[in-house]
Amino acid sequence: MDLIIRSPRIPKPGETIIGSSFLTAPGGKGANQSVAAARAGGRVYHVGRVGKDEFGGVLLSKMSADNVNCGNILVDKKHATGVALIVVEDSGENSIVVASGANMQVSPKDVDNLKDLISSAEVLLLQLEIPIDTVVLAASIAHQSGCRVVLNPAPAQSLPPELLQNVDILIPNESETNMLTGLPVDSQTQLESAALKLLDSGIATIIITLGERGAQLIQRDRSTLIPPFEVNPVDTTAAGDAFVGAFAAALAGGESMEQAVLWGNAAGALAATKLGAQPSLPRREELNRMLQEI
Ligand code: ADP
Repeated sequence: MDLIIRSPRIPKPGETIIGSSFLTAPGGKGANQSVAAARAGGRVYHVGRVGKDEFGGVLLSKMSADNVNCGNILVDKKHATGVALIVVEDSGENSIVVASGANMQVSPKDVDNLKDLISSAEVLLLQLEIPIDTVVLAASIAHQSGCRVVLNPAPAQSLPPELLQNVDILIPNESETNMLTGLPVDSQTQLESAALKLLDSGIATIIITLGERGAQLIQRDRSTLIPPFEVNPVDTTAAGDAFVGAFAAALAGGESMEQAVLWGNAAGALAATKLGAQPSLPRREELNRMLQEI
């Protein structure tokens, strides 16, 4: 759950200042991406944990209302629902502290209990807001059964080789690409060198999201810029989550890799035109309308 205060500025250490407004909004990368995929038309089973508290209840009911199957989200009696404390300056700059709570209790055992569900899926979509051992096991189960594994490496952290070998498609943004490879990404040539390093680690497809410039699809034998949709951006929060969710839904629905990236671009662009995270994630009708423009 995102707890958001608007403030004239971010307080200094030890300082208390008066902000203007307070808002709670469902968030979290995994939840945002599940909602994005479901709104894009995917049949989504979300796996995770919330706490036995008010925020947990709200998150489950909101996700269920978006047709995300929440039957495999455990309610953790000992740990609170994950929260992000966000201060947004009037300038748009923000500062965020996350208390992961129940998210960090999502265990390899939770995932091991869901082998059949994971094996029967078309696509497994992973992020890094749960323990890395759990991500590694989920990717391994999916890979063994031919389910495509898509990893959004956010928040960026170094990825163990046993994870990389089971990921089919990696979707970082530019700063995550820089953090994962240690290489600069300021020009097209630099971006492709960084992607090459990621391909060398054994991943077949890298898709780097480029904000208003669209997304670069990179495989061993090709590098293609998939162009963006032009919009007037209002708030780009969750543009990346919209991209990843819609991409995964399109891929699971049988679209080609290029077409699925186009879906991602449309979803990211539409999300940028509205305030907030989950409220801004587009529905299938809006995506279809935008995709028909080209
Ligand atoms: P993140 O939010 O993770 O930093 P990006 O900023 O790269 O991710 O945005 C994800 C995707 O959303 C982009 O690849 C692009 O398709 C779309 N997008 C984001 N911002 C804009 C924008 N201003 N105009 C058009 N499309 C955008």
